[in-house]
Amino acid sequence: MATVEQVGRRVSAAEAREVAEAAREKEWAAASFVRDLFLGKFRVDLIHPYPQTDPEEDARARPFLAALEKFLREKVDADRIDREGEIPPEVIAGLKELGAFGIKIPREYGGLGLSQISYMRAMELVASVCGSLTALLSAHQSIGVPQPLKLFGTEEQKKTYFPRLARGAVSAFALTEPGVGSDPAAMETTAVPSEDGTAWILNGEKLWCTNGPVADLVVVMARTPSKIVDGKEKRQITAFLVDTSWPGVEVGHRCDFMGLKAMYNGALRFHNVRVPRENVLWGEGKGLKLALVTLNTGRLTLPITTVAAGKNCLRISREWAAERVQWGRPIGKHDAIAQKIGAMAASTFAAEAVAELCGFLSERGYDIRLEAAIAKLYNSETGWRIIDDTVQIRGGRGYETADSLRARGEKPVPVERIMRDFRINLIFEGSSEIMHLFIAREALDRHLQIAGDLIVPGTSGSEKLRAFVRAALFYAWWYPSRWLGWSRWPRYREFGTLAGHLRFVERSARRLARGVFHCMVRHGPKLEHRQALLFRLVDVGAELFAMAAVCARAQMLLRSDGAAGERAVRIADLFCQHARRRVRLKFKGLWSNDDVPTYGLAQEVLRGEHLWLEQGVVNRN
Ligand SMILES: Cc1cc2nc3c(=O)[nH]c(=O)nc-3n(C[C@H](O)[C@H](O)[C@H](O)COP(=O)(O)OP(=O)(O)OC[C@H]3O[C@@H](n4cnc5c(N)ncnc54)[C@H](O)[C@@H]3O)c2cc1C
Repeated sequence: MATVEQVGRRVSAAEAREVAEAAREKEWAAASFVRDLFLGKFRVDLIHPYPQTDPEEDARARPFLAALEKFLREKVDADRIDREGEIPPEVIAGLKELGAFGIKIPREYGGLGLSQISYMRAMELVASVCGSLTALLSAHQSIGVPQPLKLFGTEEQKKTYFPRLARGAVSAFALTEPGVGSDPAAMETTAVPSEDGTAWILNGEKLWCTNGPVADLVVVMARTPSKIVDGKEKRQITAFLVDTSWPGVEVGHRCDFMGLKAMYNGALRFHNVRVPRENVLWGEGKGLKLALVTLNTGRLTLPITTVAAGKNCLRISREWAAERVQWGRPIGKHDAIAQKIGAMAASTFAAEAVAELCGFLSERGYDIRLEAAIAKLYNSETGWRIIDDTVQIRGGRGYETADSLRARGEKPVPVERIMRDFRINLIFEGSSEIMHLFIAREALDRHLQIAGDLIVPGTSGSEKLRAFVRAALFYAWWYPSRWLGWSRWPRYREFGTLAGHLRFVERSARRLARGVFHCMVRHGPKLEHRQALLFRLVDVGAELFAMAAVCARAQMLLRSDGAAGERAVRIADLFCQHARRRVRLKFKGLWSNDDVPTYGLAQEVLRGEHLWLEQGVVNRN
């Protein structure tokens, strides 16, 4: 019988990189706005005119969204769910009844067959009411079985599982293990072919599996026997569709977190679980790629939940800042609070533009892997700032629980819960750091294709010579053209007052492309380790994408609804002013920063050279 040697040892950085590279999508078959942006090309035609929902789709989604909204309003008590740590069975049953577990599952298999945008609208409604419910529905549909099944399932698999899922069978996605977080190379869950070859035998333990404790079906990633390619061992990770009723599947500890108190999240154990051969998803060795591709659209749920948080916070801040009087004036009249509210309004508009545009671009068939990563990164970080400001604006009441406020006879505004529930968004489905690295890798991709052999150690003399010729030919045209452009001319006139911002995006895209190139030339292979520099480049790209999305959306609103559109344009204008300042600062930081001494101090801390800083407190851990 084939075996998979256990990976009890640490995986080296090179091995980890190799596994990640093998899973990377290397082709760019469809257009990508952000990839072009990093290369200095501003493809406004890809986002303008701003896409709109198909009226037929709108008409089909409307009754479902209306029923969902009514259900959430009348039947869901989010404070109770948070307090008790359980979602009442009747709430889950009601959501199943509405079809909320099969929003994107095609109609021929019993689902609602709605689009990505309609799904996002539904998740915005859910997220505006209850984080734990959002986790349940999103883990099931964004990363759980329906999405990879739709993308990679065989007809047989779809016929077997879609109807069950549409009826409300709960699903989950199990990748993480105690030793496997952001880096999957050290995966220890294994699957080996059974002796008769009809099944795989699955063994191992998964951690933090959202919906795991209540799931009927789980996508499980496991190591399968390595392949030898060109004399080298290539690790294989394969995705399996596992029914939790099968013998050997066991639910372990249900985890309890800072927030999302009623999320069903826990460890799953697999002991000699016999998985039929036909339950491999996509193919042997394609598991990690499946996870990454699934997440390209799966990642769009978190950005839209940020929009829900932003809208709630804006309302809460508006009401409180008008009502609360201190020092003789409503606090909203004090400049410090007003600044926060102004920025919050602009950021909420931007978060919606970013999330919605990504949803539309994915429906148009564009390659949105970078857009989705930016949306996840940008919106979750923006959302956290908005919530932090809302807590501050609410003062002591921002820190008090809704139950305690209610008990004192005050309005039970749940800012404290919103903050606890939101924090995980910066960690799961690709932490902020991993999103930065993922985007940076793709931003550098074209340069690595052209000149990688020149800077990567270990390439032969002839490879270096070939790379030199290739780079000389490419950069002779590319580099000067990143300096020349017409973006100070009166272009983009149809955007009215926003045209100047789009010209800034165009100019800055060229500056960004030059920045990427200059960093590569200056730091060579060491650039990989200069994460703070790479992150600044990514942050500039993210701001430029947000600016473009905001301008395109405001322009669309202006055309479709004059008065509201004019207000949107003013907000977009302010957002772009804020973003331009942030972009300038990030560019400046590329050449003037304290990254090296800061890294140095961190290493001293890690070596224990500054334990004196930690003295004077009680250490009980
Ligand atoms: C509430 C919750 C729900 C979850 N749901 C699921 C689920 O349904 N299915 C599932 O499979 N997993 C799930 N996870 C796991 C989640 O996806 C991981 O927590 C996440 O991938 C990060 O892994 P980690 O926590 O092990 O952090 P680590 O990977 O150990 O990272 C720790 C810190 O180091 C940073 N870091 C790591 N590598 C680098 C690097 N190369 N450069 C710079 N910084 C780096 C990270 O960003 C992070 O800040 C869930 C986790 C939680 C807490």
